Amino acid sequence: MQFKQIPGLEDVKQQLLHAVDNNHLAHALLFYGPEGSGALGLALALATYVNCENKDMEAHDSCGACPSCTKLNKLIHPDLNFVFPYANVKEALKVKGEGKVELSSDMFLPEWRKFIEHSPYGNLSDWAKQIEADNKAMLIPVEESRQIIRKLSLKSYEADYKIMVIWLPEVMRQEAANAILKVLEEPPYKTLFLLVAQQPDAIITTILSRTQKIRVRPFTDEEVTNYLITQQEMSEKEASAKSFLADGSIRRAMQLLEGVTSDVGTMFRDWLRVCFMSSKLNEGLDWADTFSSLSKDDQKGFFQMGNNYMREGLLVINEAESILRLEQEEKEFIQKLGKFLTHENIEQASRLFSEATMQIDRNANARIMMTDLYFKVHTLFSNK
Ligand SMILES: [Zn+2]
Repeated sequence: MQFKQIPGLEDVKQQLLHAVDNNHLAHALLFYGPEGSGALGLALALATYVNCENKDMEAHDSCGACPSCTKLNKLIHPDLNFVFPYANVKEALKVKGEGKVELSSDMFLPEWRKFIEHSPYGNLSDWAKQIEADNKAMLIPVEESRQIIRKLSLKSYEADYKIMVIWLPEVMRQEAANAILKVLEEPPYKTLFLLVAQQPDAIITTILSRTQKIRVRPFTDEEVTNYLITQQEMSEKEASAKSFLADGSIRRAMQLLEGVTSDVGTMFRDWLRVCFMSSKLNEGLDWADTFSSLSKDDQKGFFQMGNNYMREGLLVINEAESILRLEQEEKEFIQKLGKFLTHENIEQASRLFSEATMQIDRNANARIMMTDLYFKVHTLFSNK
């Protein structure tokens, strides 16, 4: 990946290039930004740049054509190592006839390459889908830390820098994180740790304190537009409409491009309609079943959508509809909902949805939680 493939973010790019060109680059960097941001792309572009054999000093980028760039671009460079979350899919692999399997990030590399090639802007749930682990817990297990130490103890094969990319260190098991503290603090010569996080608050502090933090802000609408025009061959008019809805996330823009309307969004709208009607008690209870079959990530996405709708609902009752960042169908929904909304019930609903998200993190029973929520939300909106 080259810097020029990532739209905008000139300030961060300059900061990185300056550090490399002046030999100031820290040996452990943490790129953090919301999902759909350029954090992973920047880490890969930096890995390519430091190892490029023919750096383009005028364009401030890697050449994209030397043997090192070519291999890094295909993610097949022997000095480029990846650690990322995965689920226990041993059973599935046994069915495929793999026999006895010891799982590791390396086992998933072919899928990982496809995932990044499709888009380096995906999130954990996209990755889980890629490896057919939608409903499983995704983690970086303790065995991975042994792999990290082993790989870094080997001499680099051909590159200047040996690279260790750790994607989503926030889901690293505590023991795994502890086991790499020493090597993270004092890595072998010419080793570069590139950590890429979406929720840095969830990373243990001993890891955080050993990295130099690079904040990657969400893209601006203009940057997303630019990306859609130059890299997805979209017309200017269409690109600008999509980027407005994408709200700074290229992941979201890609979904809109691929016609993926957010399923959890549709589900949330259906659920809320059911909550509004007292005659729909049975359906409300059925919903609890449907909901409990979703992956944890989708369950959280469901309430994230709920909070988005409440935020937009607030705009509707404040008659500020022109700034709604919604698609037509969603817009119509929220406008119809408007007559039931008050500042008070929006605030209470948002609190309920945030609490639900926390309960999901604490492994609450989803069926009981949703049954309870059905009654609470129904009462909330029938009392206006
Ligand atoms: Zn090159």
